[in-house]
Amino acid sequence: MILVTGATGQLGRVVIEHLLKQGDAGQVAAFVRDEGKAADLKAKGVDVRMGDYDDVASLDRAMKGVEKVLLISGTDLENVVRQHGNVVDAAKRAGARFLAYTGRAMRDPSAPKSHLMEGHFETEDLVRESGLTYALFRNALYMDTLRYFLGKGETFETDIRLPSGHGKVAYALRVELGEAIANALLREGGEDRVYTLTAGEAWSFDDVARALGELSGKPVTYTPTDKATFEALMRGRGVPGPMAELVYSFHRDIRDGQLDEVTPELEELLGRKPASLEAGLKSLFHL
Ligand code: NAP
Repeated sequence: MILVTGATGQLGRVVIEHLLKQGDAGQVAAFVRDEGKAADLKAKGVDVRMGDYDDVASLDRAMKGVEKVLLISGTDLENVVRQHGNVVDAAKRAGARFLAYTGRAMRDPSAPKSHLMEGHFETEDLVRESGLTYALFRNALYMDTLRYFLGKGETFETDIRLPSGHGKVAYALRVELGEAIANALLREGGEDRVYTLTAGEAWSFDDVARALGELSGKPVTYTPTDKATFEALMRGRGVPGPMAELVYSFHRDIRDGQLDEVTPELEELLGRKPASLEAGLKSLFHL
């Protein structure tokens, strides 16, 4: 039995969809905190187990009979490492034989600008120290985040202003990361693995602007900004200060070259080349 946490989230749903395509629904369990959101999973025969990362007893119940656990990182910034620790400890207590975690790809894990990234690497340490056989999936920045960075939902800003300099990102589509993770979970043998899952190429916002311009036929420009200009732009869009600060820290990491590492591992797990920037933008913005 494979237990997937964060199963009603966007990545978790994709992982489960691919596990179901390749195997028996009776072997897939979903850890969820909102039963209403899991009705479709139940209907497909997935064993839905209720709980919360903060509720240790619920984790112990959920781990019954589970061999492999995929811990999909949570969203509660202040408490996330403690919550992940609860999942790791429950997997150990239950005698699971394999534990996987979805973190983030960064060139230098000791120097992220974003507090959010630090939590991923602290969790990796907990997983390593668990003594269980593990896989660490270091996911590239979702290409899907371009929808948020470009400011207008499913349409896009034609005058892009961000504090990323000319730094590049090896973006991957969330659906492809989920598919690759499912493939790895199904094939995972007895050894510890660290997968860095990225596109086969890295792109700057200059590249994003050029590709959007070519695909849409509209002129699209990118102007790197400084922190103060970016914060003023965020205020103008009604983004609260702490959130603007967090988004700025993501862009600092991009500017500093933290997200431009390219590996063949996503391609290997998918059995095909991951989406190019052009293909990804087409699907994200319906171009
Ligand atoms: P998502 O759609 O927000 O899903 C997060 C999942 O975590 C949800 O299912 C949520 O439950 C669950 N969760 C949060 N707190 C929980 C708790 N206390 N107990 C139990 N479950 C809890 O995010 P995603 O797109 O699937 O991405 C997965 C994770 O990757 C995110 O949580 C985040 O850590 C990280 N991430 C990565 C990138 C990237 O670019 N690589 C970008 C954004 C986020 P509910 O469904 O009940 O809300």
